[in-house]
Amino acid sequence: MVEYLAGHYGIADERVLAAMDRVPRHLFAPEALRSQAYKDNALPIPGGQTISQPFIVARMTELLHLGGKERVLEIGAGSGYQTAVLSELARKVYSIERLPGLAAELKEKVVRFGLRNVSVRCDDGTTGWKVYAPFDAILVAAGGPEVPMPLLEQLTVGGRLVIPVGETQKSQILIRVWRTERGFESENCGPCSFVPLIGAHGWQG
Ligand code: SAH
Repeated sequence: MVEYLAGHYGIADERVLAAMDRVPRHLFAPEALRSQAYKDNALPIPGGQTISQPFIVARMTELLHLGGKERVLEIGAGSGYQTAVLSELARKVYSIERLPGLAAELKEKVVRFGLRNVSVRCDDGTTGWKVYAPFDAILVAAGGPEVPMPLLEQLTVGGRLVIPVGETQKSQILIRVWRTERGFESENCGPCSFVPLIGAHGWQG
């Protein structure tokens, strides 16, 4: 899978590739779908949600430029696969999932897999996680109608936010925002398709 990510998609960040090589994706997939865990597909998980396609996990993680010392906020933990990849690459990961069942399962996985630098909370992540702000990097794994203002406010100067934004709930553009001394700079990183971001600064549930 990792060779495919590098060869086919040009994922070049060696730390991201090595982390994805180490994290066993099948352990985050529903048991019946484990044999498909290393194909380049999204997979369904409970609650009508999905484990993101490996390519998009690699791409979003690469866009965050993680060197190992960052404090990262993740919104939309889902299966926890992306969370585990981030935990390999950053100092501390704060992860928010709005569906109680998925959040509870993730808390169990954090203990079972010994992800000691991960904290999980069940809530609407579009308002961020104020007590632990600011963050060096924020990754949103669900698509919203706009970039949530609280997330911009919770970025450090120099911080990066990666989020899918779209006018409909079906398709989005992946946006990266950098916070600079002077304000915010956004880049269009190409089309993508995520489940909806539902919350106060997302779509209405
Ligand atoms: N990267 C995850 C993707 C999960 S799908 C994985 O690979 O497993 C996106 C997740 O975002 C879903 O679990 C959904 O419940 C969650 N979500 C949607 N809106 C949210 C919000 N406002 N706050 C937190 N989580 C949210």
